[in-house]
Amino acid sequence: MTETKKISRRELIKQGGLILSALALPFPLTTFLKFNEMTDNKNFDVIIVGGSYAGLSAAMSLGRALRNVLVIDSGLPCNRQTPHSHNFITQDGEKPGVIAEKAKKQVLQYDTVKFLTDLAVNGKKTDKGFEISTQSGQLFSAKKLVFATGLKDIMLNIDGFSECWGISVLHCPYCHGYEVKNQKTGIFANGYGAFHLARLIRNWTKDLTIFTNGKSELTAEQTDEIKRHNISIVEKEITSLKHKDGVVEEIIFADNSTFELKAIYSRPPFEQHCKIPELLGCELTEQGLVKIDALQKTTVDNIFACGDNTNPLRSVPYAVSAGSIAGVAINNAMTEEEFLEK
Ligand SMILES: Cc1cc2nc3c(=O)[nH]c(=O)nc-3n(C[C@H](O)[C@H](O)[C@H](O)COP(=O)(O)OP(=O)(O)OC[C@H]3O[C@@H](n4cnc5c(N)ncnc54)[C@H](O)[C@@H]3O)c2cc1C
Repeated sequence: MTETKKISRRELIKQGGLILSALALPFPLTTFLKFNEMTDNKNFDVIIVGGSYAGLSAAMSLGRALRNVLVIDSGLPCNRQTPHSHNFITQDGEKPGVIAEKAKKQVLQYDTVKFLTDLAVNGKKTDKGFEISTQSGQLFSAKKLVFATGLKDIMLNIDGFSECWGISVLHCPYCHGYEVKNQKTGIFANGYGAFHLARLIRNWTKDLTIFTNGKSELTAEQTDEIKRHNISIVEKEITSLKHKDGVVEEIIFADNSTFELKAIYSRPPFEQHCKIPELLGCELTEQGLVKIDALQKTTVDNIFACGDNTNPLRSVPYAVSAGSIAGVAINNAMTEEEFLEK
């Protein structure tokens, strides 16, 4: 769908009425203008919930396969605070939002794909497939669903942590390690997680300290190994991060002592950004990811999932690849079903 198009006088009056109701709702007026262009069609071949890298990639494959696709996206990708995205060829060092906008523009060149800025709030199985309802009160139906809804990282309860997240508090050395190589770096983790991260991050910098924020849970063996590599373990309770616009300067401890450093690695807990797959019966793995097979199919027929919500290897190129596989797998399934029917 093109996002701007000429509208008739009747449509304009109809939209005028919606302007008033829009004031009471969380999405901007432009959402309603975009939405109104689509009121005629509520039925799609595929609804993709989540329109970031994975969702748009699935939409590209499906749109080019002449499938009528609706992408519903609430505009909160997990990397939105990161200034630059790395390790994706052709886009290395680009702003995350620029990559997504470019993808969206390319996908929306196909008139088979519609994009709605909204939040999917519920999903239901029907005789013909599924229904998805949105926060703005709309109801759409489709034969197949894709969830490309990502994960929600739960920020640690340390002042300044969320402000530094994605800027100087980093989740992944492959994405951001090169930019802080050989710098004085901390690891916020405990137990095996801390041991594993220290072993990995040591590839990018030898100036490493583990901060366990309380009693260390590393085994005696792990502690010996860590010390053998001149990595210290600090068990003091952390209260805050002193930072300038997200660039960390020092850690402040409960005893008021401080520790200067340039970067911190942390893998905070996460949860599914969208609970609809679970509502529809999709199984989760032990890690809390949507369980899928090699073709991105979930444990529920006709529901697919792709991107961060399904895989711990969180990266833009992985999300794009998984979205593309999901799109192709769905179209293949539909062509087979249609061949049998007609
Ligand atoms: C801080 C940080 C920095 C990163 N840096 C890099 C990097 O440099 N390089 C790299 O390759 N990777 C990086 N990553 C990983 C990368 O951002 C993710 O792997 C990628 O964004 C996953 O894409 P996705 O489409 O699966 O999910 P996301 O990009 O998280 O998008 C999910 C989308 O679904 C929408 N959504 C969720 N629920 C609903 C709903 N109910 N209704 C409608 N929409 C919904 C969200 O609003 C969001 O737009 C980083 C991650 C983080 C957290």
